Amino acid sequence: MLHIGCHLSCASGYLAMGRQAAAIGADTFQFFTRNPRGGSVKAFDAQDAAALTAFLNEHGFAPVLAHAPYTLNACAADASIREFAERTMREDLERLAHIPGAMLNFHPGSHVKQGAETGIRLIAQMLDTVLTPDIQTPVLLETMAGKGSEVGRSFEELRAVMDTAACGGRLGVCLDTCHVFDAGYDIVNALDDVLGEFDRVIGLERLRAIHINDSKNPSGSRKDRHEKIGQGHIGLDAMVRIINHPALRNLPFYLETPNEIDGYAQEIALLRSRYTE
Ligand code: FE
Ligand code: FE
Ligand code: ZN
Repeated sequence: MLHIGCHLSCASGYLAMGRQAAAIGADTFQFFTRNPRGGSVKAFDAQDAAALTAFLNEHGFAPVLAHAPYTLNACAADASIREFAERTMREDLERLAHIPGAMLNFHPGSHVKQGAETGIRLIAQMLDTVLTPDIQTPVLLETMAGKGSEVGRSFEELRAVMDTAACGGRLGVCLDTCHVFDAGYDIVNALDDVLGEFDRVIGLERLRAIHINDSKNPSGSRKDRHEKIGQGHIGLDAMVRIINHPALRNLPFYLETPNEIDGYAQEIALLRSRYTE
């Protein structure tokens, strides 16, 4: 079975997201742990988290994915921004401990003129501070498009974070189809080669989640502008090959396409109809 869902708003609480996902034919979903562009967070409701956990188990959901805020930058030049990143990730992981099975995805960061090497070292440092041995929640590095000074535009940069952090063996990866395409990986014409490269550099066993998005721009553009499924430069045929690929087909897929809930429901139905059981 294809495990697929979309990004949902956490505004009405945890259980509400589970119900909304089920109502549109999803069996997983993604949500922001807090305001994505600020970082403010509402009071934690442990009962609501427990209710969602029960709902996910009852309905046989695939792991849900929490997304850290965009403002989280573990390798900022400014120490106060790095402290915010550390505090935010620690708090988010404390909350996610109440939803067993949930994973946390984050953008590695932007090194802002310090160079990728320094960026990688700072990200690894933050992870080693936060990922104490008691933490069960899988933490995923997202593949980035490479706009500005983003770290994670290549598989090698993600590997370097894993190799630099003492906790690196515990890290996973979330592959964003729009981002890798924009970064220059040709998942349209050479999907097998790209996944082979991922396997050589990182190891496919580290791949835990897919953000399934089309792209408004051609491969190599480094733009990071998501498009609806089948309406961008990746196209529906490539999307269908991605969801059915033997190395990917059992992973959870999360839509982050520019849609309201009806559009998401349609994309989920479309992709389900093109999945080979
Ligand atoms: Fe993301
Ligand atoms: Fe993404
Ligand atoms: Zn993106």
